[in-house]
Amino acid sequence: MKFVLNNKIEEIDAPLGSSTLDFLRKKGFTGVKEACHEGECGACMILLGEMEESTVKYKAVTSCILPLGEIIGKHVVTIEGINQEKLTPIQEAIVEEGASQCGFCTPGFVMSLTGFFLNEIFVKEDILTAIEGNLCRCGTYAAIKRAAEKIAEKIKVEDLNYSARVNYLIELGVIPEYFKNIHEKLEKLNEKLESNGKGTNVAGATDLLVQREKIEKPVFLSQLQIRNDIWEEDGYIYIGALASMEDIRLSEELNELFDIKNDLRVVSALPIRIRATLGGNLVNASPIGDLTIYFLGLGAEISLRKGEKSRILPLKDFYKGYKQMDLEEGEVVESLRIKSKKRFFNFEKVAMRKYVDIASVNSAISFEKEENKIKNVHLSVGGVAPVPKYLEKTSNFLNDKEVNSEVVREALEIADSEISPISDVRGSAKYKRLLVRQLIIAHFMTLFPEMEVKL
Ligand SMILES: Cc1cc2nc3c(=O)[nH]c(=O)nc-3n(C[C@H](O)[C@H](O)[C@H](O)COP(=O)(O)OP(=O)(O)OC[C@H]3O[C@@H](n4cnc5c(N)ncnc54)[C@H](O)[C@@H]3O)c2cc1C
Repeated sequence: MKFVLNNKIEEIDAPLGSSTLDFLRKKGFTGVKEACHEGECGACMILLGEMEESTVKYKAVTSCILPLGEIIGKHVVTIEGINQEKLTPIQEAIVEEGASQCGFCTPGFVMSLTGFFLNEIFVKEDILTAIEGNLCRCGTYAAIKRAAEKIAEKIKVEDLNYSARVNYLIELGVIPEYFKNIHEKLEKLNEKLESNGKGTNVAGATDLLVQREKIEKPVFLSQLQIRNDIWEEDGYIYIGALASMEDIRLSEELNELFDIKNDLRVVSALPIRIRATLGGNLVNASPIGDLTIYFLGLGAEISLRKGEKSRILPLKDFYKGYKQMDLEEGEVVESLRIKSKKRFFNFEKVAMRKYVDIASVNSAISFEKEENKIKNVHLSVGGVAPVPKYLEKTSNFLNDKEVNSEVVREALEIADSEISPISDVRGSAKYKRLLVRQLIIAHFMTLFPEMEVKL
């Protein structure tokens, strides 16, 4: 099983379910730092390049929770593979702005910023998004921010197509010359994973490799022809189970219907959103999974597949108890679908910090409006029950109602009777009850800005 490591072809001599970070450090690539080993801090950031049609496309990912099976036939770039005789413009800006103190986190920042310019969808204003998954224990954030903004001013890639962008970055010294030949190296490798389909299903592994050191008998779902794209068919928008959180966030189809680009900005951090998949979020069955709560609030349906057989059920019926789902042995999630129709929609998330944090409580609501009444209401809340909670009674109560303070007050009472929060590190049960109330009020204040909510 081969891959390209910086400028050389390498062979994997460790289990495919183990961490790429551990493998790289054992090989002597110690510029890839180990700190949290949970995808939280970004010290182990690498670039992962993959052939897409005839181009190699790169993403910055945390190597600690990247299973080795995912690098087969791909290009792995560590900080050692970026270093050249002179500092790169990114390294230079970091030095000039005094953005490196103890230096431990610096390789991670350099890799994230380099990856930013190589991202397929390039949004210049988002340079700080590129480093939202990197922590600096010295707290040099003001200088790092200055360096990032300086870099964004210096490197002008917005009008270039992907291949032209790679060439320009080589010319500027952001990435070394050898990037030009990677394409041929990968073509020559032509390595692909093979599996008998028996073992642990692996999607992005952002949950699996946090829970355990190594995944035994990994079955990489990309081998099972599960889709990773988003498409429209027969009046529905379908999202393949392997679609990443970031692809979902930036999907044109979904952004036509809701402001999902902004809504999902508060979900983990870019390197995690790039790897974490919809299917993983749904099957993880965390009561506070953000995508789960988002799509429950949209009345989504889930499609499950076993061999050639598929079945579809409402997402709200998929969850049976804490981490228990209506999922048979050998069955996988293949996609999720929502009606391709504009609905009134709002998503709220409260966490201990705004970005890169799991919610204390999150909630989503959607409905249609007919004359003055709201119809076809779906309301979900997370973090207040053993399952991602669909508020069935509250949704039914709100159906066909003209919204006013009285109706909201009654809905709050019903919602309170449907939840069963527990006290934990994310807040006391009492606090979470209060949050549910406040988030439902926030939904109505956002979707009925003209209404004065008097409670
Ligand atoms: C630093 C960090 C921050 C995070 N922040 C957030 C956050 O803000 N919000 C949030 O919701 N989550 C967050 N997470 C949690 C995690 O990233 C998500 O739950 C993620 O969506 C899991 O997806 P994955 O593809 O990585 O799943 P994996 O780890 O690959 O799999 C998770 C589980 O799902 C199963 N599985 C995966 N796909 C399928 C399928 N198609 N069919 C059947 N079974 C399947 C696997 O077997 C496994 O049991 C965070 C994680 C990290 C490390």
